[in-house]
Amino acid sequence: MKIRVVGCDGGVAPGSETTCFQVHESLLIDAGSACTGLDIDAQRKVTDVLLTHAHLDHIRDLGFLADNLFGETEGVTIHALPEVNRILRKHFFNYAIWPDFTRIPSPQDPFYRLHDIEPEKQYVFGEVSVLPVRVDHTVPTVGFIVEDSTTAIVISGDTGPTERLWQICKSYKNIKGFLVELAFPHTHQEVANAAKHYTPATLKDELVKFERPDTPVALYHLKPRHKPRIEAEVEAMENPNLRFLKNGEVLTF
Ligand SMILES: [Zn+2]
Ligand SMILES: [Zn+2]
Repeated sequence: MKIRVVGCDGGVAPGSETTCFQVHESLLIDAGSACTGLDIDAQRKVTDVLLTHAHLDHIRDLGFLADNLFGETEGVTIHALPEVNRILRKHFFNYAIWPDFTRIPSPQDPFYRLHDIEPEKQYVFGEVSVLPVRVDHTVPTVGFIVEDSTTAIVISGDTGPTERLWQICKSYKNIKGFLVELAFPHTHQEVANAAKHYTPATLKDELVKFERPDTPVALYHLKPRHKPRIEAEVEAMENPNLRFLKNGEVLTF
């Protein structure tokens, strides 16, 4: 399986791109940087977007993707929890923040079709199947287990310490990698707890739940201003399985 890291930052500053993974050329997981990280030709090929949750750093470029392509492609299906789709309708595509691309060009045939997904139900996209699992963030959020015929990888979504996702992972024999969020340094543990994100300290406890000490773990969603401190704290963990994702890299499992 190949996954392109279109964006893996937890905030916006020059050179950073917020969360967006390209699973294959037509399927994205989150769309934070779908337009700043993919050229227009690549954007044209997107037909499906799975969302972990509705926070701005994960949905921002849904607005610009529609603006770039409406009327030109067959449109895009957004697959998200019902709560997330409700938020998109009410607070984003509402003609106040942005035009309602769930009704443009026409309500019968809009650019964005919103499809409600159910946690722990499998969804198939070509050769890839995806299982959403609820995680623990401040708003309704899922992580995803993405699987093809040989390999599974896990994307945590934004989360603080959580149980169900790691529990379900135990039934998968073929997990080749974990992509795990890490947003704040331990020096900001209180903020991380309130915002329900990991720090290196809570990550250390979560890694035990994976029960796969040899499977690589790639970290993403670092807040740009905390990057140097987070990197130093992770280095101090002296865990050779941990590394940081980079914007634009292609992961092969
Ligand atoms: Zn979030
Ligand atoms: Zn986020």
